[in-house]
Amino acid sequence: MLKKWTDQLLGDSVETGLENRFNHLILLLVIITLLVASVINLSLDLGFWLTLLTFLGVPVMLFIYWVSRFSKKYMAGKWLMTITLFVLLDLLWYQNSASAGPILYVYIVFYSILILVWEGPIRNVFVGAFFVNLVALAWVEYHYGEHVIRYTSDDQRVVDVYSALAIYSVLATFLVSAARNIFIREREKARRSDRLKSAFLANMSHEIRTPMNSILGFSQLLAEPVTEEEKNQYVRIINDNSIYLLQLIEDIIDISKIEAEQVEIFPVEFELQELFEELKMIFLQLLIKNEKSNITLEYKIPSPHLRMRADKTRLKQVLSNLLTNAVKFTDNGRIEVGCHIRGEELEFYTCDSGIGIPPQHQQEIFERFFKVEDKRPDRIYRGTGIGLAISRNLVELMGGKIWVESEPGKGSCFRFTLPYEPVEEPETSGWSVARMAGKYHWEGRFLLIAEDEESNYLYLHEVLKKTGISILRATRGQEAVDMVRDHPEIDLVLMDIKMAGMDGYEATRRIRALRKDLPVIAQTAYAMEGDEARSREAGCNDYLAKPIKPGVLLQKIAEYLE
Ligand code: ADP
Repeated sequence: MLKKWTDQLLGDSVETGLENRFNHLILLLVIITLLVASVINLSLDLGFWLTLLTFLGVPVMLFIYWVSRFSKKYMAGKWLMTITLFVLLDLLWYQNSASAGPILYVYIVFYSILILVWEGPIRNVFVGAFFVNLVALAWVEYHYGEHVIRYTSDDQRVVDVYSALAIYSVLATFLVSAARNIFIREREKARRSDRLKSAFLANMSHEIRTPMNSILGFSQLLAEPVTEEEKNQYVRIINDNSIYLLQLIEDIIDISKIEAEQVEIFPVEFELQELFEELKMIFLQLLIKNEKSNITLEYKIPSPHLRMRADKTRLKQVLSNLLTNAVKFTDNGRIEVGCHIRGEELEFYTCDSGIGIPPQHQQEIFERFFKVEDKRPDRIYRGTGIGLAISRNLVELMGGKIWVESEPGKGSCFRFTLPYEPVEEPETSGWSVARMAGKYHWEGRFLLIAEDEESNYLYLHEVLKKTGISILRATRGQEAVDMVRDHPEIDLVLMDIKMAGMDGYEATRRIRALRKDLPVIAQTAYAMEGDEARSREAGCNDYLAKPIKPGVLLQKIAEYLE
């Protein structure tokens, strides 16, 4: 409740940042102080102008607070706050008896604010300005003291000075305590991060040694005389462990890139169902790899043809991280993945019936290197504790939020949101295909289509003819390779995989040897498990599953040509 209120007043610590929250706190304290001072001035009858000044200070400071907190112009807020306080204090000093009044105490508080809020050369400029201002005040009072507004009685002075001193002491206490709390919190965070890093290094050493052990051991065994069956088994083990190691390296690279703020988001349009079908494949592979046959998967999406715009690769990465964890921490039962539309957001989720997460760790699991198992080592699960940190960062980069709801022993639901702008479905009637293709202008560009089926070739030709692209055709793998060699003007290849003689994989490998940078998009008749991975391994840049929708084909080609 209290946190909700402070977040509302000062701004969310993640979104607003600690420093800006601190500035908002200062602004609120100044507003309260000015209000209290107005009441005191009024009750002691310290003069019309002084009371008006403190009173007018309130809306001015409220405006600055609004600029910083709600318009999120933090820097502008900081400048306005500093300059206004300078001017306001000088006016108050003049109206409130100069060195005989209490305003000089406020200068001490103001000085601490300058030191706390600013850093770098600008801080030195303000500190210089502060002392010049102080000297100027002393000079004015020394030479023109008679013009400064004075108290009318000694009693008035005593009450005003002591009450003002009490208020400013409270203000100073708040400021120093807030700065101290921030310091302690940051120090704790740094210590935690250091401890987590040490745990990560120890864990990583184990995570690398285990697969390396199998790879080295089984490759040595392969050098011995072995049966065909044994050979296949050893190769599979070596392959599985190599993939695991590769994933580990990719995760480490990802987390380093995220920390160096080098990850970019590339939104594309795609059909949600396509993404979930790919996830289903990942899930089936996970079940086989983890030897878990007692788990079922269900997926729910709002409509089979719902299209969205997002970075599909990163979205798939987050969902497959969550799915991998769901399978890892569930022994039997069911896993559900899905998505709902919630106003202007899409909410994705993966729910499992696994071991669950204790409430005290539900926030920490999103931190780098944190594993609940380290706190409760009753069963060992492989992992480095970076998957969720990567997922959280990617979701935030895509403009969403991620959280978990979980009950130990019952299961966990990981949920995240992404902004949702409805995307029109690409129309597929003949008339609209022509209209869609008419949007692209690829005159002077050359496409090689390697396709042995006449009807398939004609279909591609029909879809693409309105774009003005020049099309070359090969009906065999070898012919495609020869054409790439003889026609350096080719910009892109659409490669059928299943062709008589040399297949698309081999043809792509040879094309790669000839032209390293030529984009090749594979197209296959049915999306078999592993097809995409195999085509990428052969050197294809991308992959289209038949039947190819015209909109998808055009979009994919545009990605490479434009
Ligand atoms: P790891 O690669 O070790 O799985 P993650 O960052 O993906 O790292 O997860 C961090 C920790 O969160 C895990 O070690 C585990 O303790 C907990 N966790 C994540 N997902 C689940 C889940 N579905 N069920 C139970 N615990 C989970």
